Amino acid sequence: MADRYNVESFNLDHTRVAAPYVRVADVKELNGVTITKFDLRFTQPNERFIPTDALHSLEHLLAENSRNHSDEVLDLSPMGCRTGFYLIMHGKKRTEEAARLMIRTLQDVLKADRVPGCSPVHCGNYRDHDLEGAKLWARRFLSVRESDLLKVFREDYTAEERETLPDWPRRSDV
Ligand SMILES: [Zn+2]
Repeated sequence: MADRYNVESFNLDHTRVAAPYVRVADVKELNGVTITKFDLRFTQPNERFIPTDALHSLEHLLAENSRNHSDEVLDLSPMGCRTGFYLIMHGKKRTEEAARLMIRTLQDVLKADRVPGCSPVHCGNYRDHDLEGAKLWARRFLSVRESDLLKVFREDYTAEERETLPDWPRRSDV
């Protein structure tokens, strides 16, 4: 087993994290341009996974709406493990900025009456969508206090605080 991987998140101990959270995964400076990559973790790794249809709809909604709030979003893409998303932004950005952008964008998700770009012309798998499922996970993320979104690891919470975290959504909650 490699001691250090090239991919930053492979070096993260996923058993220690407490989702949801927002975390800087990487900062790169290339030819004088700085970009910041964030780990936007929605579900507890190895415990809960966003179904592919809801994840796909969340991707469309977050990728489209986040750009209404910031001109510096370069990319927003789902993680293959279906526990969250990566957000890449232009500039050296603080975690608070990404958390605030996510909160505003997820509030847009709750108000959405359709998934943007959901057609055979605009999407590579347009039948695989679930707007209500996307709202369920958006609501779960938003039900956590902004200050708690900045807590990444289990030890950042007291045992009592962990007790007060909201339950995970289930498909039957729709
Ligand atoms: Zn699509």
